Amino acid sequence: MMMFQTLHRMMGGSETLKMACEECGHEAAWTSAQAKERLGPDATPMDVRHRLVCSSCGVGGRVRVWI
Ligand SMILES: [Zn+2]
Repeated sequence: MMMFQTLHRMMGGSETLKMACEECGHEAAWTSAQAKERLGPDATPMDVRHRLVCSSCGVGGRVRVWI
């Protein structure tokens, strides 16, 4: 069984959250502090995927997220 993960649990202070748009390939990365500030420490990877909108092509909900 997979543990229910949140940004707070997944990310230490030095890790970065990487994001890539599945539409246009645009990539971005946020530090742990930036990610928690923008998405909230309780956000799950699914939340992140659904809430982010690509700053390049404007498509939402198609962002690949990893750490
Ligand atoms: Zn895009």
